[in-house]
Amino acid sequence: MGIFDGHCALISGGGTGLGLEIGKALARRGAKLALASRSEEHLERGRETLSALGAEVQTRVCDVRDYRAVRSCVRSLEDTFVLPDLLVNNAAGNFVRPSERLPEKAFANVVDIVLNGSFYLSRTLGARWIERGVRGVQLNVLATYAWTGGPGTVHSACAKAGVLAMTRTLAVEWARHGIRIVGLAPGPFESSGAADRLWPSVELKNRVREGIPLGRFATREEVAEAAAWLMGPSADYVTGECLTMDGGAWLGKGILGPGEAIPKVLRRRR
Ligand code: NAP
Repeated sequence: MGIFDGHCALISGGGTGLGLEIGKALARRGAKLALASRSEEHLERGRETLSALGAEVQTRVCDVRDYRAVRSCVRSLEDTFVLPDLLVNNAAGNFVRPSERLPEKAFANVVDIVLNGSFYLSRTLGARWIERGVRGVQLNVLATYAWTGGPGTVHSACAKAGVLAMTRTLAVEWARHGIRIVGLAPGPFESSGAADRLWPSVELKNRVREGIPLGRFATREEVAEAAAWLMGPSADYVTGECLTMDGGAWLGKGILGPGEAIPKVLRRRR
């Protein structure tokens, strides 16, 4: 018996990258999957991958910036498939741009996808869960710059900070309905979207890696395993919390920098 037998997860951006990997981790544990994003091609590839694992999968073309589209996506899943009782807010637009050259529209667009889109999905499903007495779980994919800030990512940092606030707010507000809201903040991991836009050269990728105390990127699989744990029964008492999984990258590095041995001169007794 899989821990998610009889459950269904709706994953925004579930056809690619981490969203698809989380879908695989949930499918292996018995979940049905519903994938929602803009590109039919992404959705079809995701459907094929998850069906090959034996999961029942449905896809919906849905731009999460459009609350009417989000509502009709959830309604059609409930009418023709099943009301998902698990939600992964994963859709995002990730790119680096100096703030002084970031068009207002681009800022608004990322906030629309990440913050508004996550709220539309959380709210639409949450309302149905409350009406039907479903004790669902929502997982929000965050990033550590939600609280550290991140030069070049003001759009995404502001949006993710909002989603972190939403995670904590809804966790308390909906706890009385038995609904859990959790966050997961991965550090850099390999995905074609991220590689093309965040570290497009070997040199840049090496610089990112040098800032990670554990000295490597995460794999998508290990981030997805953490997501499955957070959404599963073993984490039933966890809510409003964000699990950081970044190899120690966001922590202070002291005066030495990551991976530096403490020099002899500092080790001498005074
Ligand atoms: P990715 O492969 O580029 O995935 C982004 C997904 O979002 C795509 O499937 C895309 O699907 C979907 N999407 C974008 N705009 C949408 C919209 N308006 N409506 C619906 N879906 C939309 O990215 P990833 O690297 O796997 O990132 C996944 C998550 O991890 C994101 O939340 C990201 O911020 C977070 N994260 C990533 C890293 C990293 O190193 N990669 C680090 C920390 C956090 P369509 O094109 O089909 O719409």
